[in-house]
Amino acid sequence: MQRNFEETLHSFQELVRRIKYYNEALAVVYWDLRTGAPKKGVPGRAKVIGMLSSEAFALSTSEEMDAYLSYFSDKENFDKLDRVWKAVVLDSKKEFDRFKKIPADMYKEYVILTSEAESVWEDAKNENDFAKFSPYLEKIVDFNIKFIERWGYKDNKYNTLLDYYEPGMTVEKLDRIFGELKQRIVPLVKKLKESKSQPNDSMFFKYFDIAKQEELSLLILNKMGYDFAAGRIDESEHPFTIGMTPGDVRITTHYYTNIFHSALFSAVHEGGHALYEQNLSPELDGTPISTGTSMGIHESQSRFWENIIGRSYSFWSCYYDEVIKLFPEQFKGVSLEDFYKAINKVEPSLIRVEADEVTYNLHVMVRYEIEKALINNQIKVSELPRVWNEKMKEYLGVEPKTDSEGVLQDVHWAGGSFGYFPSYTLGNIYSAQIYNAIRKQLPDFDELIKNGELIKIKEWLGENIHKHGKLLTPAEILKSVTGEEINSKYLIEYLEDKYKEVYNL
Ligand code: ZN
Repeated sequence: MQRNFEETLHSFQELVRRIKYYNEALAVVYWDLRTGAPKKGVPGRAKVIGMLSSEAFALSTSEEMDAYLSYFSDKENFDKLDRVWKAVVLDSKKEFDRFKKIPADMYKEYVILTSEAESVWEDAKNENDFAKFSPYLEKIVDFNIKFIERWGYKDNKYNTLLDYYEPGMTVEKLDRIFGELKQRIVPLVKKLKESKSQPNDSMFFKYFDIAKQEELSLLILNKMGYDFAAGRIDESEHPFTIGMTPGDVRITTHYYTNIFHSALFSAVHEGGHALYEQNLSPELDGTPISTGTSMGIHESQSRFWENIIGRSYSFWSCYYDEVIKLFPEQFKGVSLEDFYKAINKVEPSLIRVEADEVTYNLHVMVRYEIEKALINNQIKVSELPRVWNEKMKEYLGVEPKTDSEGVLQDVHWAGGSFGYFPSYTLGNIYSAQIYNAIRKQLPDFDELIKNGELIKIKEWLGENIHKHGKLLTPAEILKSVTGEEINSKYLIEYLEDKYKEVYNL
């Protein structure tokens, strides 16, 4: 590259932006596909997705990109970059190496395999037929093991997969963390189950008008500081958040006429994700680091709003009146205390996405242990139904009668997302650590919630976590917010304290 530094930087920035724009376009198409695209338009739209993503992929792995990355990785040039572009170079290099180490035809074969596997998985789940899905899963596991051999690994093959979703996370740390959770949460669940004071949540399963549910969700999202001029809420089968730029972060929820709290907590959860994306610093615009730093930190934001704030007594002492105003018949004679206990009912169940905040981590632990064993060739795919059921029985005390409500329930493995599940529990752990830190820095934290001044909490999160995007690693964010490394103690204590009170233990 003959040009001077400034010119080279300028054209590198153009290339980076081009990739970002492809990804933004992809996100809009993807959102459309899941929120309202007409059925007959789906196959055509899928082709657009295929084309746009191969263009973005080609640019990210191009010789042009290779040349820029070697130019800017050179120490003299690297030192001249500002901190944003240093981070962009490192991030793009990571992505480049990841893709470049996999031969193009191998990658293509894998993409086709996983997209087929997702539809086979759907049928297998509907028909309760694990044998139908297992040959696909075997191939996906084999591919992942082969990828790891090419990417390289340290200490444990599974570390490479973990690091993709949660940079810096390792099996060694997770084994310790899950060990600590297992030791305290399994007995806690048992005690809650045996308590004579069981919350009654039967009032949640009556008829709830969707327009009124929506009104309540919008009221709370507004209070949280979700900016509707930079977003919108729609309905989809499974709730999700998608951020194009901080100026366009959309969320979805799913309304059920016969369940009061499902859509509401989905909206609060996705709202937590969305606040992160809406409050990224403008200096990161147009770069790949204008997003959450990891899946775990992202999840900490949604869980913080959904569980720590949204399932707190302080929160409902502010908003329960609104609930009664909207649904006077359904909540007739239900006190704030009863309502609070009902939204915090703990019940070991078979399905992860329906799990409460106490048992949720045990569902994740089952998946973590299985993934780790699969990737290290310690169990075979054919053994999964048995292993799954044994672990469910051991940790949650419940055993699926069918594979549909057992090993087949989640789409992640069909899509090849090994290493993703632990993010959910990391999110819970981080959120409890953040909760501990925020209460020290905002001593009137509970009062703020009781008074509906959630905006101040949003601002604190924005300033301490959101604005950094990927400029800081998950560990750096955690350290700067809490002064500590990951520590499961806060989550364990939060759960023990809260639920001993809810269950009168
Ligand atoms: Zn989430």
